[in-house]
Amino acid sequence: MYVSTRSSAPPVGPERAVLSGLAPDGGLYLPRSLPPLDPELLAPGPMSYPELAYRVIAPFFPGFPEPRLRAALEASAARFETAEVAPLVRAGGRHFLELYRGPTLAFKDLALTLLGEFLAMSAELAGDDSGILVLVATSGDTGKAALEGICPEGGGSLPRRAGAAPAPRVAVFYPSEGVSPVQRLQMTSHDAPGALVYGIRGNFDEAQRAVKAAFAEAARPGSPLAAALAASSTRLCSANSINIARLAPQIAYWVKAWRDLRDRGELGSEGLMDLAVPTGNFGDILAAWYAKRMGLPVGALVCASNRNKVLYDFFETGRYEARRPFYATSSPSMDILVSSNLERLVYHAASGDPGRVASLMAGLAETGRFELGPDERSRLSDFRAGWADEAPAAEAARRLFEATGYLVDPHTAVALAAAESAGYPRAGRPLVLAATASPFKFPLAAAASVGLRGRGGSEGAAGLEAELAAAELLARAAGLEPPPAFLALRGRRELHRETIDPGSIGAAIRGALGALGASASAGRGARP
Ligand SMILES: *Cc1c(COP(=O)(O)O)cnc(C)c1O
Repeated sequence: MYVSTRSSAPPVGPERAVLSGLAPDGGLYLPRSLPPLDPELLAPGPMSYPELAYRVIAPFFPGFPEPRLRAALEASAARFETAEVAPLVRAGGRHFLELYRGPTLAFKDLALTLLGEFLAMSAELAGDDSGILVLVATSGDTGKAALEGICPEGGGSLPRRAGAAPAPRVAVFYPSEGVSPVQRLQMTSHDAPGALVYGIRGNFDEAQRAVKAAFAEAARPGSPLAAALAASSTRLCSANSINIARLAPQIAYWVKAWRDLRDRGELGSEGLMDLAVPTGNFGDILAAWYAKRMGLPVGALVCASNRNKVLYDFFETGRYEARRPFYATSSPSMDILVSSNLERLVYHAASGDPGRVASLMAGLAETGRFELGPDERSRLSDFRAGWADEAPAAEAARRLFEATGYLVDPHTAVALAAAESAGYPRAGRPLVLAATASPFKFPLAAAASVGLRGRGGSEGAAGLEAELAAAELLARAAGLEPPPAFLALRGRRELHRETIDPGSIGAAIRGALGALGASASAGRGARP
């Protein structure tokens, strides 16, 4: 059962929590109590990734049919480059958990390749046969991962049975100036019925706020958006990490990392591992902390920030100050000043007092800040904070590459440098860093960080061409093949070219309901 962080409204089942994303009071859902890890997960012996993920995830979704859950996990794993899904690679005395071997080259794939099926199962359990439109605010990586997870190109989704609700559809909103050329083309070239992509004039926080405003408008009876949704019998859902269906799958790979360390004899005498996570919306690291609270032997969790170090300051001072200059960095998925999932940690800090969380979050909305008391701060002692600006992050990536030949992307580089500045790794304890994106997803920045500068850049090749040239350099220097998902970008066409103001998002969604309605009913005719 799931409760809201902001009120003591009666708990809801997992299917309601998945379908609504946000609770009606504006809070986030979390499980009333975290299910302890199945002891088999910590026992010796091999276990496939889908089996491991099933044992971690299933207790969060009682009532979801086991065969479908298992089939979804198998289908998701099959979309990754390797059967182990998330390889753990040792380099430079650290362990990199490569979470980027999926279809869009970033860790969001681990959860979003499951989301379409989770939404479909939730709708069936809730007896809701309205259409689903998933809204996504993205800082660059979530958008394409949601498109691939929910409306894959070529229609490669799971089979749907006769009479089931129409397939979920997606509308993605990305900050028009805030994503890399590769990220932009991945999204704007996505060619699948039921998929829409818009640029938003502004940064990620503005895009995220606009999407939240659309959810609020949809919940207001009589608003234009509510009327359009009712007329097309559609409900809005969220693919952002506020959705509990995003968080649960992210717990599984931390369990895998610990098992790999144990199997390789890399755990020290305490049996613990420390973690360092490049953080933006606080989803990935929250999942790691949940894993610890469920019984995974984890020591410290290092929350790594880039120059937008609002989380670093929060952990250091107890004060969250969102009103500050915003910097566009080479780790765009961490360029976030309002970190949505932190609210779930604040709920814990407040000992589960929803009134206190509601008042802190009201303060954040009104004044851009909130502050924890000393008792509340003392409940965050599992966390350490570190941050790294562009130069030290690039420098850390360069040193690692020169010493070991191992390449990291700019987000992972921030975690590497930030962990180091916080004093990690510590003697006697392995440090696992979340490698959240492939270096080939950010080839220009990755190549520049290791001192490679292509002629493409100096001759003024712009945008995607420069990225492609940098990828070739990177591949040669590291002796790697660029991943197929990257190579496939060459020659793709932008299909979605619209850029809108944050205030027009409701109108865009109303327009989308019309456009998608037509393609959905065409699609429905073709279904068995
Ligand atoms: C999304 C993302 C992050 C940040 O993850 P959160 O769960 O939002 O904290 C870090 N790195 C990459 C590459 C990402 O795509």
